[in-house]
Amino acid sequence: MKKVLVLEDESSIRSFIVINLRRAGYEVIEAESGEEALEKLKVNSDTRVALLDVMLPGIDGFEVCRRIRATNSRIGIIMLTARSQEMDKVTGLMTGADDYVTKPFSPAELTARVDALMRRSGGNDDNSAEISQPPFLLNTRNRTLEKDGRRVKLTQVEYAIVKMFMENPGKALSREEILDLVWGRDYFGELKIVDVNIRRLRLKIEDNATNPVYITTVWGYGYKWGA
Ligand code: CA
Repeated sequence: MKKVLVLEDESSIRSFIVINLRRAGYEVIEAESGEEALEKLKVNSDTRVALLDVMLPGIDGFEVCRRIRATNSRIGIIMLTARSQEMDKVTGLMTGADDYVTKPFSPAELTARVDALMRRSGGNDDNSAEISQPPFLLNTRNRTLEKDGRRVKLTQVEYAIVKMFMENPGKALSREEILDLVWGRDYFGELKIVDVNIRRLRLKIEDNATNPVYITTVWGYGYKWGA
């Protein structure tokens, strides 16, 4: 069964999320604190998506996200943020979250986001095993990327972005196209999420992220793989 962890200290919001996810067919694990969430993830290592509230007593949602990412790059992470926490969103994505949802959110919006991440973390990739574009080697079976023979640790979203680029070398892709290809057509989010993820990806794969040569900017349009 597809397992989701919900970390939210306010019990009314948590119940609302849990009920709706169960209705959508997910197995849901609940946690009231960051510490409890980390403990539960240890014994539920097959959890595929985690919803993390930001404001919590004890360690906050960003710290939980950082600690999960330290050992698990496969799990999908969605931050639950309050309205007007713009900086929180960006910080959350920079610490390794894949997406964020702003409160208040509708059940349909929430399940659409979870569905989208679930599809990406599913590992049902096509059978072609490798795409080689020196210095990069992408293995679509293991969902791994190597640069000069060294493994680059990627989140599922970052992996999906690299795969999209390597399948479209030299092609200018608009931010809207990237959002469609990586996040899915039914995604509700903002274009900014593309820029945030690409900024983070550049830090991982470019020799010099301030002067990128692999993911280049097409001004006023989007991005391109290669110069
Ligand atoms: Ca809270």
